[in-house]
Amino acid sequence: MSSTHLPSVDKLLRNPACAPLQQRYGRQALLSTLRDLLDELREPARHGQLAALELSEAVLAGRAGERLASQHRSHVRRVFNLTGTVLHTNLGRALLPEEAIEAITLAARYPLNLEFDLATGKRGDRDDLIEGLIRELTGAEAVTVVNNNAAAVLLALNSLGTRKEGIISRGELIEIGGAFRIPDIMARAGVKLHEVGTTNRTHAKDYEAAINPRSGLLMRVHTSNYSVQGFTASVATAELARIAHAHDLPLLEDLGSGSLLDLSRWGLPKEPTVQEALRDGADIVTFSGDKLLGGPQAGLIVGSKALIQKIKKNPLKRALRVDKLTLAALEAVLNLYRDPDRLAERLTSLRLLSRPQTDIRAQAERIAPALTAVLGESWQVAVTDALGMIGSGAQPVARLPSAALCIRPQQPKRLRGRSLHQLEEALRCLPIPVLGRIDDDALWLDLRQLDDEAAFLQQLVHLQEELAR
Ligand SMILES: *Cc1c(COP(=O)(O)O)cnc(C)c1O
Repeated sequence: MSSTHLPSVDKLLRNPACAPLQQRYGRQALLSTLRDLLDELREPARHGQLAALELSEAVLAGRAGERLASQHRSHVRRVFNLTGTVLHTNLGRALLPEEAIEAITLAARYPLNLEFDLATGKRGDRDDLIEGLIRELTGAEAVTVVNNNAAAVLLALNSLGTRKEGIISRGELIEIGGAFRIPDIMARAGVKLHEVGTTNRTHAKDYEAAINPRSGLLMRVHTSNYSVQGFTASVATAELARIAHAHDLPLLEDLGSGSLLDLSRWGLPKEPTVQEALRDGADIVTFSGDKLLGGPQAGLIVGSKALIQKIKKNPLKRALRVDKLTLAALEAVLNLYRDPDRLAERLTSLRLLSRPQTDIRAQAERIAPALTAVLGESWQVAVTDALGMIGSGAQPVARLPSAALCIRPQQPKRLRGRSLHQLEEALRCLPIPVLGRIDDDALWLDLRQLDDEAAFLQQLVHLQEELAR
């Protein structure tokens, strides 16, 4: 078979099968896909490695169509997070409540008063859009919002302590995922690290002894993603604030997750709240928007008016500021906190975090038969109690009692690993990828976050095809 069997691009383009493709994807995209396809086939065709059928115009148009569809598909894909980790950093952390989604849509579609004061007709400040709410909810005098909490810490440190020393306990020199390390951030902020105490114990006298004319601030970091137990001691915010203020220094507290409410009300472990930190005397408190707060990615810096003013004047603020969509979503989420009684119904992340185990187990019982039917003889599906996590480093040792579909291969043990990974891959290749976790020779689908049961069940038919590949 010779290369003459390959049709020309022009001829292919005129084939009726290509008309709908051109209509859908445009002439340019179609043309370049057809060219690529023909280029790839030229060599094998010359060597007679292709059957005539593979070179038929209809088949080539079909392949171009598949390729265009996959190129056209968004790279941002919805997935089912059945990992058991609710605020999963790699899967986008908090899911936004409807109110926030509506606010984002509005802000995206229309012009808005982002930096325009409608009362005076003069230029406004984007932070003003949420300042009233933050004041009401946290008791802070002022707020400024940046891209994430890492940015908040960087900006606060740089604004308040540059070319001076930042005093911090050795027990709080933490690393958060993604190379965020307090000593590195301090260095980048131009603050000289002055560490005091030891890994497990730091006392008030350690801070007091460290204060000197070069001191710029005291810092306290919530050790959110690990826990030191046993012979430990740390200095509470109130006492640290007293020490800082006696020397006219500000106390900066990085809370990380930063809850606005005591979560034990919903059966969750208690995280230190923003109000408590402020009430205990922290001058500046920083926290994330998309961890326990349940909002968009953002870093909130709250505290005294004078210090917030100083932070806002830093040119870095301009580089780290948030966009209108974030502010719109943040305002909507903060608004929900004004009604704590209904928060668990309305704030998606809190609803998921506080979902009762009985509810999740009932869902697992409902779904198990369908999954068993699809997977067939070679797999055993069991409804099993599971322990999930909050995620995002919040309360790392706390576990959320949950229920999972625990899927085990029926094969001899030595073959199990391979088939488990095949199953994991098949689930990941579904139209809406399903992400679980492999543990103890089984694949676990923790159903705490399965909201859209119908969509999950509907695509199970594809699982058979994926497994047969
Ligand atoms: C998560 C966390 C950060 C970083 O916050 P991002 O919003 O992820 O940038 C900083 N400090 C602490 C204590 C944290 O827990």
